[in-house]
Amino acid sequence: FAQFKLVLLGESAVGKSSLVLRFVKDQFDGYRESTIGAAFLTQTIALDDQTTVKFEIWDTAGQERYKSLAPMYYRNANCAVVVYDITQAASLDKAKSWVKELQRQANENIIIALAGNKLDLVTESPDKRAVSQADASAYAQEAGLLFFETSAKTAENVKELFLAIARKLPIEQAAQ
Ligand code: GDP
Repeated sequence: FAQFKLVLLGESAVGKSSLVLRFVKDQFDGYRESTIGAAFLTQTIALDDQTTVKFEIWDTAGQERYKSLAPMYYRNANCAVVVYDITQAASLDKAKSWVKELQRQANENIIIALAGNKLDLVTESPDKRAVSQADASAYAQEAGLLFFETSAKTAENVKELFLAIARKLPIEQAAQ
């Protein structure tokens, strides 16, 4: 397979680990413990009959005290998923600062996706939405990011998110 390193970044509790758990094991756990430091998992995704992409996923802890470790994880990353919670406006500001940092410090050709997670909460009660889809989408377009609103809980758009990233990766150039 072509292998690519993917890093998850974003504020604590926005659902980074839950998105990974959904993508890798197709499970959701409402009572997860916080990630300490970072966790590593792999998952493959088929683009077509001939092409399979293997992601090496680094799920980082969102807490401020681990912030200085993040460059270690994104330094050689091919792609990044920057996550915010669509019910918490401040989490988008935090996501934007991660995007800035990635665009300054990470690989020049890193593929960055913005994921507005916890879509299920808003589907249930629209008044919980704190970040409009239009605003986030406009920001993502301007910053050159892929963009999805996701739910790790219901799985909505989770596969689509990783598939969209896989489609943008330079598969021909990767070591097979
Ligand atoms: P992380 O700190 O960013 O890795 O966030 P976690 O994956 O640990 O999730 C934080 C909390 O949000 C946990 O209680 C999760 O069960 C919950 N959570 C994560 N994703 C979703 C989602 O899509 N919908 C809902 N309703 N809750 C979620």
